[in-house]
Amino acid sequence: MTGVGVSKGVALGQAQWMRLTVLLPIDNTPINPSEISTEKSKFEDARQAALKQIRALVTSLRMKLPKEAEIFQAHALILEDEEFVTPVIQLIEQQCLPAGAAIYSITQTLKDTFLAMDNEYFQARAQDIVDIERRLILNLQGTPPVDLQLLEPGTILLAEELTPSETAGLNTEKVIGLATRLGGKTSHTAILAKALGIPAVVGCSELEQIQDGDQIIINGDTGEILVNPSSVERQSALNAQKLQQEREIRFAAEVKLPTETLDRHQLTLAANLSHPGMTAEAIKAGAEEVGLFRTEFLYLGRDSAPSEEEQFQVYKTVVEGMAGRPVIFRTMDIGGDKQVPYLGLAEEDNPFLGYRALRICLQEPELFSAQIRAILRTSAFGPVKIMFPMVATLDELDKATAIVKCIGKELACEGIPSASAVPLGIMIEIPSAALRAAEFAAEVDFFSIGTNDLIQYTLAADRLNPKLSSLYQACDPAVLRLIAGVIEAGRKRGIPVGVCGEMASQPLGALLLLGMGINELSMSIGSLPEIKSLIRRTVYSEAARLVQSALRMRTTQEVQMHIQEYLNGH
Ligand code: PEP
Ligand code: MG
Repeated sequence: MTGVGVSKGVALGQAQWMRLTVLLPIDNTPINPSEISTEKSKFEDARQAALKQIRALVTSLRMKLPKEAEIFQAHALILEDEEFVTPVIQLIEQQCLPAGAAIYSITQTLKDTFLAMDNEYFQARAQDIVDIERRLILNLQGTPPVDLQLLEPGTILLAEELTPSETAGLNTEKVIGLATRLGGKTSHTAILAKALGIPAVVGCSELEQIQDGDQIIINGDTGEILVNPSSVERQSALNAQKLQQEREIRFAAEVKLPTETLDRHQLTLAANLSHPGMTAEAIKAGAEEVGLFRTEFLYLGRDSAPSEEEQFQVYKTVVEGMAGRPVIFRTMDIGGDKQVPYLGLAEEDNPFLGYRALRICLQEPELFSAQIRAILRTSAFGPVKIMFPMVATLDELDKATAIVKCIGKELACEGIPSASAVPLGIMIEIPSAALRAAEFAAEVDFFSIGTNDLIQYTLAADRLNPKLSSLYQACDPAVLRLIAGVIEAGRKRGIPVGVCGEMASQPLGALLLLGMGINELSMSIGSLPEIKSLIRRTVYSEAARLVQSALRMRTTQEVQMHIQEYLNGH
């Protein structure tokens, strides 16, 4: 089978489907009285299966994550409680409800009871009831949930698509590769896999044919997937793994050396992070900055927005972890493929063109100011910059800047320390901003080009749609022209321009950006050593000449061949 290889390397392991999201609609049609005992046993089987899964989870989490283990322990207690079990059975017996509808009815009542309580702790327990309900119903459907903590070592996780919140608990000791049926080069599965440093293939339409437990090989370079491989194929996968390891050892030898070309042109290599616990790894891989901290990950997979204090603690950990190296915090970029239920956002026909990121922040002053306060407070602990995503107009920038200024004064009045000047920058990821880069450059301290979105908006090609992956290309002449224009506008105004989209992490893309005069390349930790090595083997003036001819080419393929030829020669 073939899909799109999005995170390098070869993984050989057993397949496991992740089925967290397929809750079938609940059937409310009353059953025939003769079916009551069957429905009761279905409920009992689902309850026992759920209990067994939860107990396994508690055992596995007890040592590593004792708090989480306690939560699941509480779930087991509820499932064993007569006050929960009896009402479900009564609904099946007395109202002839199918098991699923009976469970749903009782959990709804319980959830509402918790929500109505005048106590934050008990209100939060409503989410536990939702978890229990979901686990019971999935078991009833015969598609038990996959608990990420319980996967066998050597698992290659398969899914329709992985959302950031679903993968929050992914354990890389167990998961050695990812493959999804949907998704494109810059889907979050791709970003996640790169951050974890594991191979991934997305957009593989035949993936459904793979069964749980099948031995598979996925190749994150070529996008190939082999099911139940022969011994020859297994051996060649092992050889490829060995080669990859050798390359990694070579790159590792260079990570502490300067990021400069053979003719001494320097630039900054930075890491894209979304988790405070990754700073040591980023530094080890050669990151000189955090070029993009995706703060939205703090907002995902929970029932309310993080408080100012919670954010402050996370941001401070990042800044302290980077030990004097600058950190660019991007204000939250919710929307598009990153949805949160508690904001009550309406479903949209075109979420990528919808109410997202800064657009939400400017309409939700409380949400935005909690984040800005937290970032500004963090600036007292090390060099911090603020970056706004999805800026389309100067008007949006004016509003966001005014809010930051106002909050800065507010903190000063309250006597809360923060840096006297925190650089403000924007992501250039919407063509309108790229086209007006000269005007924006006059008003901000830095640019960071978000190629993931810039490509999709320039070519009107959804970044997640595998059918469009040949159209969705960083080397497209229109995309290249826009990027070159932005870099030039930044250069003229004397502000640094970086790229934090995936283009920066691909040798071909990085070489083009280098030749265009980019100041900073920011990428997933796993890509840093390879790109450093590439830069150190390149002559800047040659890269610049390469770009001049690339910018005159007619097609993406011509550009790719042209650059690839140069790469092969080096
Ligand atoms: C981008 O669009 O290039 C980017 C870095 O942001 P995200 O992938 O989070 O949309
Ligand atoms: Mg973006």
